This record gives sequence, structure tokens and C-alpha cells, in this order.
Amino acid sequence: MNKRDIEKFKKLLLTESNQLEEELNGIGQKSSSAPGGWEVTTGDMKVDTADDNEMADKFEELEDNAGIANKLEGQLNEVKAALERIEKGTYGTCETCGKPIEIERLEANPSARNSIKHKH
Ligand SMILES: [Zn+2]
Repeated sequence: MNKRDIEKFKKLLLTESNQLEEELNGIGQKSSSAPGGWEVTTGDMKVDTADDNEMADKFEELEDNAGIANKLEGQLNEVKAALERIEKGTYGTCETCGKPIEIERLEANPSARNSIKHKH
């Protein structure tokens, strides 16, 4: 892979990373206790504890957001790992067979770790 390709994928990865962080900011905040982790919040945590239905709704919303946050966090970590591989010069190499990952695969998923044959 040439330098221009690397630069192109780096840009894509940085854009993706910003988008994911933005989405995570919409449903939670960066965890103060776990570095790289996120805490999920609802828009308004002040719930009337006398109203069981409202409590249940809030917990459901929190659970949904936690699921979404988990997924986004996973994606964000993959994108960050790909950016680290760019810095280390190992980007675009299949982790299974050590061969270059197909450009079209990286275009579909810039944070891919494996070649088409070895994707899972
Ligand atoms: Zn492979």
C-alpha cells in the first residue's frame, strides 16, 4: 500500500472516530473511572420514584442506550486500533496470514484486521 492510500484511510478513520465519539456523546459521557470507557445517561435522570411505570421506562431507555453505547464503543476501539496500526506501519496487513488486506475490503471497512478470506 502506498503513502497516498494510507493517508486516505487515515482520513476515513479519523472521520469515523469523530462521528462515533459524537454519537456516544449523545447518549452518554466519557467514564471518569474507566479510561476509554463510557457511562450512559438518560436525558433527565430525575425520575419520580413513586411512579413505577416511569421508572421502568427510564431503566429501559438506560438499558437500550447501554447496548448502543457498547456497540459504538467497540467500533470506536477498532477504529483507534487501526489508527495505531497506521502509526506503527502495520496497517492493512491481515492478522491471520500476514498478507496485505484487499483495498476494496479496506474501502468497505477501513478498520478491518483481516483479509477477505480470513474475515470473521
Ligand atoms: Zn488473511
